[in-house]
Amino acid sequence: MGDDADREALLGLVSSLGERIRVDRRMGRPLSYLARSAAVVPSEIPAFATGEAGGGPLTSLEAVREALGECERCALARTRKRLVFGEGRADTGLVFVGEAPGAEEDLQGRPFVGRAGQLLTKIITAMGLQRERVYICNILKCRPPGNRNPRPEEIAACEPFLIRQLQTLRPRVICALGSFAAQTLLKTETPISVLRGRFHLYQGIPLMPTYHPAYLLRNPGAKKQVWEDVQLIMKRLQETG
Ligand code: SF4
Repeated sequence: MGDDADREALLGLVSSLGERIRVDRRMGRPLSYLARSAAVVPSEIPAFATGEAGGGPLTSLEAVREALGECERCALARTRKRLVFGEGRADTGLVFVGEAPGAEEDLQGRPFVGRAGQLLTKIITAMGLQRERVYICNILKCRPPGNRNPRPEEIAACEPFLIRQLQTLRPRVICALGSFAAQTLLKTETPISVLRGRFHLYQGIPLMPTYHPAYLLRNPGAKKQVWEDVQLIMKRLQETG
């Protein structure tokens, strides 16, 4: 009887761990809680957890870029034209994080330079800021073919470098552009329509989700909500500046 109960308890544990891994993979969460387990495969361990990025503290964006190198940590390395690391200075305290490079960004190696990027630049200008003085990047640094959604293993491989960029930049506010960026960073499936309009925390930093400029191009009516969101960002930046 005792053996049966133990076996049942063990099966229950295995089943709930399996369910957690499935959910975390779907959400693109790092499986760092498996890192001490023999069951984990090296490709699932975030790069920084393995010391792959050089081990020591990365105190500048240049050091993070150098540690990233000509990255081949996920399959997107095979299809990208150019890696899009991110650009800007963030001395305004603001970082925008989108989903992944699109076709134009892939060609130029710069974030948000297509039509949606031009709209983002207009939004930044309307905030009274200069594009060069905010930092702009994406969760993924390489374009998914055909702009398909990023895959969990791609996010797990790439997000540690975004975290290092943010640790280096120390922004006072992050603006997550679009549903995918917001849901990935906040590890939630809550729709962007519910997430936007208030601050959340990412790695201890206030994060405001708002609609992606590409969505605004298709749905100009949503500009009003984006303007409300960026006003909250401006207020926070003024309060903490
Ligand atoms: S998406 Fe990120 S992890 Fe994948 S190859 Fe590009 S830089 Fe490396």
